[in-house]
Amino acid sequence: MSEQTRERGREPAAETGRRVVVVGAGMAGVQTAVALRERGFTGTVTLIGAEPHQPYDRPPLSKAVLLGTAEGSAFDVDFDALGITLRLGVEALGVRPGAHVLDTSEGPVPYDVLVLATGAEPVRLPGADGVPGVHLLRTLDDAERLRPVLARQHDVVVVGAGWIGAEFATAAREAGCAVTVVEAADRPLADALPAGVAAPMAAWYADAGAELRTHARVERVEPGGPGASGRVVLDDGTRLPADAVVVGIGARPATAWLAGSGIELGAHGEVLADAHLRTSASDVHAVGDCASFPSARYGERLLVHHWDNALQGPRTVAADIVGSPGGEDPAPYDPVPYFWSEQFGRFVQYAGHHTAADTTLWRGEPSGPAWTVCWLREGRLVALLAVGRPRDLAQGRRLIQAGTAMDPELLADPARPLKAATAVA
Ligand SMILES: Cc1cc2nc3c(=O)[nH]c(=O)nc-3n(C[C@H](O)[C@H](O)[C@H](O)COP(=O)(O)OP(=O)(O)OC[C@H]3O[C@@H](n4cnc5c(N)ncnc54)[C@H](O)[C@@H]3O)c2cc1C
Repeated sequence: MSEQTRERGREPAAETGRRVVVVGAGMAGVQTAVALRERGFTGTVTLIGAEPHQPYDRPPLSKAVLLGTAEGSAFDVDFDALGITLRLGVEALGVRPGAHVLDTSEGPVPYDVLVLATGAEPVRLPGADGVPGVHLLRTLDDAERLRPVLARQHDVVVVGAGWIGAEFATAAREAGCAVTVVEAADRPLADALPAGVAAPMAAWYADAGAELRTHARVERVEPGGPGASGRVVLDDGTRLPADAVVVGIGARPATAWLAGSGIELGAHGEVLADAHLRTSASDVHAVGDCASFPSARYGERLLVHHWDNALQGPRTVAADIVGSPGGEDPAPYDPVPYFWSEQFGRFVQYAGHHTAADTTLWRGEPSGPAWTVCWLREGRLVALLAVGRPRDLAQGRRLIQAGTAMDPELLADPARPLKAATAVA
C-alpha cells in the first residue's frame, strides 16, 4: 500500500444507521463530529473524551484563562442540536480493529468507523512527578491550578523556553511573579527555529523582566515545606527558589492506549495516517496532535501540534467518511501548516514548514518591534515567521499555498507588500 494513500476498507456513504465513534473530545474530535453533520452524515456520532469537562479550546489556557480574564474556553457547539452524543469522563483503553470494537473504561463500544483524536500529552520532567508545586499546562484543570499560583505573585521557575514556556512566562510576569526560565539548549525554541532567528527572541524575556537561563539543565526539584519555598537545582549546582515550577518541555502523541491494536505508530508514538488521514487499520482515521500525515507539498511526513491542524484535518476525515456521490477519493490532506503564539506583548505567527537546507531571508530589523523571516526553496516561499506583521503572514500563506516564485531582492524590502515581491516570469 502506498505511503500517500491507503485503500478504503469499505465504500463510504451517508447512510442512516452507520456508527461513527470519535475518541478524544478536544479540537480535532469536536471538529470531526461537527464536520460530519455539516456534510449531512445521518448515522450516529459519538464523541468520547477522558476529561470530565464540556469540550474546550486549549490556546486560551496559557493566555486569558490563566490570567483569569476568561472563565473558561468551552466550544460554542450545541451537541444536542447536532445529534452528537457526548460521553465525557470515559477513557478509551484499547481498540480491536478486526472486531470494530473500542474498549473503554465504561465497557466496549462498537463502531463502523472510528476516529482517533486523542491529541498529545505533555512530556514530564524526570523525577519531578508528584513533587508538590510542580505543574504542567495542558488541561483546563492544569490552568485552574495555576491561576492562584500567579495570583500569589511568588517566585516561579519555568522549565523549557518553547511556545508554552514563553506564553506561561508572559502571563506570570503580567501577574507580577518573579520568573526564571531554564532552557537546556542555547536559545529559546531551539527545536523550532534556527539560531539566527531565535536569537532576537531571547531578548524578549529580559525586556519583560524574566530571567532566561540557557544551557541550564534541571537536576532535581526540591519541594518546599510550610513557610519555605521549594528549589530547582540545576546541574551546575545553582539553586533557584521556586514556589511553583511549570514544566513546558514538549508534548507527545497520546497513543500509549493503542499498544497491541496493530495500528501503525511512528517514531514519536504518533499514528501514521495516510493522505486521507486513514490509519493502517480499515475504518479507522486519525487526526490532530495524535497523528502524522505525508505531505506531498513538503516531501516529508509532518507531525503538527498546532490548533489549525486540528481545525483543518477533521474536514478531510469527514469528507472521507461521508464520501462523494461518485465514490471518488476526496482531495488529500496537504495543508500549509499555521500557528500563532502570543508572547511578551508580541503576536508571533508561522506558516509553512522549513528545513535547515532552506534559504533564510529577513524583512525588517530583528531588534525592532515587527519583522518577518522567510524561508525559500528553489526560489519559492516554503515558510515564514511574522512578528507583528499579520499582513505578511496572510499574504505569505497564500503564496506558499500557490507555490509562487519570489524575487529575493524585492522580498527583502519590508516596505513592499509580500504579494508584490513575486518573480517576473
Ligand atoms: C496551553 C496551550 C496553549 C496552546 N496555544 C496554542 C496557540 O496559541 N496556537 C496554536 O496554534 N496552538 C496552540 N496550542 C496547541 C493546540 O491547542 C493543539 O494543537 C490542539 O488542542 C490539538 O487538538 P487535538 O484535539 O488534536 O488534541 P487535544 O486538544 O489534546 O485533545 C485531545 C483530547 O483527547 C482526550 N484523550 C486523550 N487520550 C484519551 C483516551 N485514551 N480516551 C479518551 N479521551 C482521550 C484528552 O483528554 C483531550 O481532551 C496550545 C496548546 C496548549 C496545551
